[in-house]
Amino acid sequence: MVRLEDLRFAYPRGGEVLRGCTLGVRPGEVVALAGPNGSGKTTLLKIAAGLLRPTSGRAELDGKLVAAWDRVVRAKRLAYVPQKPMLPEDWPVSELVAMGDFPHQEAPPAPRPLAQRLHEAREALELEAIWDRPAGTLSGGEAQRVALARAFVQDAPVLMLDEPASHLDLRHQMALYCALAALARRGRAVLLSTHDINLSRLSEQRLLILDRGGVLRALPAEEEAQGRLLEDVFGVRFIARDLSGVTCWFPKVK
Ligand code: ADP
Repeated sequence: MVRLEDLRFAYPRGGEVLRGCTLGVRPGEVVALAGPNGSGKTTLLKIAAGLLRPTSGRAELDGKLVAAWDRVVRAKRLAYVPQKPMLPEDWPVSELVAMGDFPHQEAPPAPRPLAQRLHEAREALELEAIWDRPAGTLSGGEAQRVALARAFVQDAPVLMLDEPASHLDLRHQMALYCALAALARRGRAVLLSTHDINLSRLSEQRLLILDRGGVLRALPAEEEAQGRLLEDVFGVRFIARDLSGVTCWFPKVK
């Protein structure tokens, strides 16, 4: 469904950011990208969503170059939520969320009725209390939940979310990750970026690490090797703790 092959990318006035990234995301999977600030997670997501063209390599959606899809047709198949979504200040939340239906206003219509999608998104992101509020009055976390709800209403088989939990409190992080797991069970494919490697692992997401050299690295199965990789990439010492059979990693404070 999503296929990135040997992606390389350099910004015109910057150095090379991605140096050969290969990745597939299948229906039913939630893939999480972690990595230091500036390692290229946003860049990779933008290329995967067709918003940036790679310097070399291929980014495909459903077997075709993602940038070659017609924009409206692509929006029926792929929803992208940037790190800092733009929400017009005067618009009420209800209308902003309903904007997710925009690609379905061109034939063919969405398979599921808009009212049902709105109801599900409003519940999943807990928007009842702010439904009639203008966007300009929202907190950072509330605005993030509105942008995510808009993407849920889009009802695309592929979701790409850039740090979707970065402004959310713990309760809403859990609610979001449960909602994404439920979408995956319904055959959706999700690619997201995160700094919370433990929450990703506990949520059964497939965790990949983008290192400072712009190379994607899978987390090894063996605990010691995991620790070495994380220490190497993040430049801090970690300790491992087993939580419900999952090895979680915490930075050593001293
Ligand atoms: P991450 O999401 O992992 O923090 P980004 O993909 O945002 O990383 O950025 C990767 C690198 O590319 C960073 O060093 C960043 O400063 C640089 N960068 C991002 N956008 C641009 C741009 N438009 N022009 C030049 N360099 C950029």
